[in-house]
Amino acid sequence: MSRNTEWHDRSLAAVWHPCTQMKAHAAEGAQLPLVPVARAEGLWLYDHDGGRLLDGISSWWVNLFGHGHPAIRDALIDQLHRLDHVMLAGFTHAPVVELSERLSALTGLGHAFYGSDGASATEIALKMSAHFWRNQGRPAKNRFIGLAGGYHGETVGALAVTDIALFRESYAPLVRLAATVPSPDARLAQPGETAEDVANRAADALADWLAEHADETAALILEPLVQCATGMAMHHPRYLQRVRALCDAHEVHLVADEIAVGFGRTGSWFAHQQAGIRPDFICLSKGLTGGTLPLSAVLTTDAVYAAFYDDQVARGFLHSHSYTGNPLACRAALAATELLAQLDPVKVSEVSGARLWRQFEGLSQHPRVRFARRQGMIFAWDVATSLPDFARRFARHALAQGVLLRPIGNTVYAMPPLVISETEGEFLAQAALAALNATLAEETGGAPSTLGVVDGV
Ligand SMILES: *Cc1c(COP(=O)(O)O)cnc(C)c1O
Repeated sequence: MSRNTEWHDRSLAAVWHPCTQMKAHAAEGAQLPLVPVARAEGLWLYDHDGGRLLDGISSWWVNLFGHGHPAIRDALIDQLHRLDHVMLAGFTHAPVVELSERLSALTGLGHAFYGSDGASATEIALKMSAHFWRNQGRPAKNRFIGLAGGYHGETVGALAVTDIALFRESYAPLVRLAATVPSPDARLAQPGETAEDVANRAADALADWLAEHADETAALILEPLVQCATGMAMHHPRYLQRVRALCDAHEVHLVADEIAVGFGRTGSWFAHQQAGIRPDFICLSKGLTGGTLPLSAVLTTDAVYAAFYDDQVARGFLHSHSYTGNPLACRAALAATELLAQLDPVKVSEVSGARLWRQFEGLSQHPRVRFARRQGMIFAWDVATSLPDFARRFARHALAQGVLLRPIGNTVYAMPPLVISETEGEFLAQAALAALNATLAEETGGAPSTLGVVDGV
């Protein structure tokens, strides 16, 4: 893909890009190029000169059905002619009602509360949980538990439960830190241990923590099955079953952050369903609108809802965002959930997921790859390398090969739109392998290490 210098230069002068050390873009011959995109269609991002890139990470895990899907586009155009936006306090509209009913049917939870981003959904769930306990006359239950390596967004409240040092350290004085319990990451298995053993070990540590601190704990928040931002750390569903039982026993809410893993990514509608459990709160965003508009939602149990239902205003959930329940975003989400129902998340994993996994065999068998792993449509490989800036170098080689892939530390991963075709899968797999070999060819010696630093997701 070529660099259109006009948009490139104007962007660097006017736009502060997210999760980016801007200087890494600015330097002449920058290691991490800024790529102007003119349009997108299906899995492909197009530049201004006709070059294209296959979007191997769904534009940061949001896109499910390819870019510009006609069903979502038509729904948006239709909605634009009816109602663009109206405030949701004191008003309601068909798209938000229908979406809430559908999300409730899909999750078994109810009363959808809306925000615009994933981080707001985290904030909403945590505030609701603590406020629930306050309304129950137990205000001391106001602390939270997160998992090692967990990621729940980057607003100040969400950073409290986000255990990624690079994202958190600069803001440490602002953050009321949650307790961190061990991750059930299957890669932590000792010799002879299974993934289930690791899950049980991590659950035992949680049990120890809760035995002492349940009285001051409102909720535990986790990413079911795959902790994405820490490097696609996958765990056994047994962990979720143990956590559910422990949270019940100790009267602590379980918040399932399905912002990344929801909507078919892991081989079911929602990841926690593979453990046969029901959380007390579910946070949704990213794929909710098929990757077209910002929207997030939190759904909870009737018991939580009932604790706020009162004559006193202050016992209500007095939280809002200006664009809460935006009709356009809700229409996009209605179209997206219809598309996913047609695809069937289980089939996506069994057919496309299994096929892609075979196509990725060259990567999985690569002598420098450790822990080749897959959960549904999420694929990851840890690379043993002496390059301290492996992620950036790999991303640059991937762009040169025509694919968008951005490793996390030393973890190469793919999370393509669910509709990736066999031909596109072959292209992605070959490009990823070529990018890996080109990156490793830049090594100048030194001991290979898989302990990378996160330098941008
Ligand atoms: C991306 C993500 C968030 C934050 O969502 P934003 O829309 O980026 O604020 C929260 N939790 C998880 C698990 C995520 O992957």
